[in-house]
Amino acid sequence: MIAFGPVPSRRLGRSLGINNIPPKICTYSCVYCQLGNTLRMRVEREAFYAPEQILQDVQNKIEKVKETGETIDYLTFVPDGEPTLDVNLGRAIDLLKPLGIKIAVITNSSLIWQEAVRRDLLKADWVSLKMDAVRQEVWRKVNRPHGKLELTAILDGALEFARTFKGELATETMLVAGVNDHDDDIRAVADFVARLSPATAYLSIPTRPPAEAWVHSPAEPVINRAYQIFSERLEAHGQPPAVEYLIGYEGNAFAFTGDVEQDILSITSVHPMREDAVSDFLTRAGADWSVIHGLIAQEQMIELQYGDKKFYMRKLRGG
Ligand code: SF4
Repeated sequence: MIAFGPVPSRRLGRSLGINNIPPKICTYSCVYCQLGNTLRMRVEREAFYAPEQILQDVQNKIEKVKETGETIDYLTFVPDGEPTLDVNLGRAIDLLKPLGIKIAVITNSSLIWQEAVRRDLLKADWVSLKMDAVRQEVWRKVNRPHGKLELTAILDGALEFARTFKGELATETMLVAGVNDHDDDIRAVADFVARLSPATAYLSIPTRPPAEAWVHSPAEPVINRAYQIFSERLEAHGQPPAVEYLIGYEGNAFAFTGDVEQDILSITSVHPMREDAVSDFLTRAGADWSVIHGLIAQEQMIELQYGDKKFYMRKLRGG
């Protein structure tokens, strides 16, 4: 099945997934990959499914979704592998465009040094670039790239793409404990991400069983620190510090339910809240700090110190 879903996604609303790569063909073999180790590593682009077949599959799926009265916000290329390995990606996007639904591509960025790949991605409305590391040794450790790939070319390609892309650009940085979560590495990635000027820089952690059993999420203080460093670096580059977590809770900081506990948990699953912001929120909701103390006691929330400020964030499962 090429088209699947739609699945609810905080980033993309109701997203109909497009699996344009047979499992699991990738340019990377990330230590945290939820699809397991990459058995078929490739760097040459190939033709997999005919773009007409992709269109047909997506159209069939849309018809079925319509019958149930559901809606679709995005058609998202998010295959069991790297979507830009598909030499027909651009043609598939061209065929899907007339359906009138926005198109998203979630790529690991590894082939973005190729002009043809950038050309294909420019056709999309929303693109997410994976940016886990900007230093050779860390990149090799976390993404375990195909031997023919070069990091500097990838970073240059990403900058070139970001300069010309008219749609909404996002970045995603997966933090793995002991691999790319050192402050220096986070700072280096944050500085690079800032140069890309993404609409949102997402920080994620492994929440599903990873390819390597030793892979773990960093602890909350590190994740909070990463958030603060990214925010500072984006701001220093003159950008809004639009940093959000993807930590396994589909929180939505913008949809309030009126239930103070739930709303605080939703917000803090998207980003940590500073003490004064929590105070303001509680006051506006007519509640007091007992709500927060209760959530901390239930181990749903955690209090953290960064610089001279206190922050509150969602406690990670098993963290
Ligand atoms: S880029 Fe994505 S599909 Fe490829 S190995 Fe990494 S996590 Fe898995």
